[in-house]
Amino acid sequence: MSPHGKPNAVSRPMPAPPNHQLDPQTTAPQECPPSILWHALRYLFPPACQLCGVALPLYSTKLNLCPTCIAGCTQQPVAACPICAEPYTTSMVVAHSCAQCVHHPPPFKWLKSMGIHAEKLQQAVQQLKYSGRFHLASPLALLLRQCLNSEITDFAPQAIIPVPLHPKRLRERGFNQSQLVAQQLGNALNISVNSRYLVRIRATRSQTDLTRQQRMQNLKEAFALHGTMTPQRILLVDDVVTTTATSRECSRTLTRAGHEVCVVALGRTRLDA
Ligand SMILES: [Zn+2]
Ligand SMILES: [Zn+2]
Repeated sequence: MSPHGKPNAVSRPMPAPPNHQLDPQTTAPQECPPSILWHALRYLFPPACQLCGVALPLYSTKLNLCPTCIAGCTQQPVAACPICAEPYTTSMVVAHSCAQCVHHPPPFKWLKSMGIHAEKLQQAVQQLKYSGRFHLASPLALLLRQCLNSEITDFAPQAIIPVPLHPKRLRERGFNQSQLVAQQLGNALNISVNSRYLVRIRATRSQTDLTRQQRMQNLKEAFALHGTMTPQRILLVDDVVTTTATSRECSRTLTRAGHEVCVVALGRTRLDA
């Protein structure tokens, strides 16, 4: 389904892919042949799934995730908004934009996620965010790239920007999980990552207990641009999207300066989930 579908366009029944169809070209082992040292290390330290720890075949791909975890992390809803990926709760719908995108068109071109923020993926994001398992940023970013390869290639981003944390929050946490994923995604795509251009200038309260409207209000004018940046097409990276309030406000700040923005997230959920 095209991410550029017109709002309210009623066409055919929506497909209900249980998972992203991964491109075998990108799931296959890539880049230069492994060295003798690499083979030796593989024998000494056999690979294991970085999420569940199950043993992997000796010559598994760089992802280092088992098929069960890959399937769990890339689970898609039965149907979703083609613009913001809002998951629909029923498959008995035809392709259409969600009410939010129709009444309040987002400043981004499209938003896509790797999977539903539940079970395996939720567990992986929580481990990355709260358990200091930073090494998960790499397999998650590689999997995100594989899932959304065609959309990202079509958009042809010139720069990648993570959703920023306020400096106070960054000091408390010590890292920005979206930045970790953005950096790994940038490495995989060979696209530069800029973590200084888009900044959070207002410390906002936690969004957890807020309604959609309150979240929008809470984030109003919370971001600003620092300096100038030439690349026009920007891929914004977030960890989890719930109401799109953060993605919208970041994108609004960027589009005001003339940039075109698409958003990728690891997980997508909805407020009433
Ligand atoms: Zn696993
Ligand atoms: Zn939508």
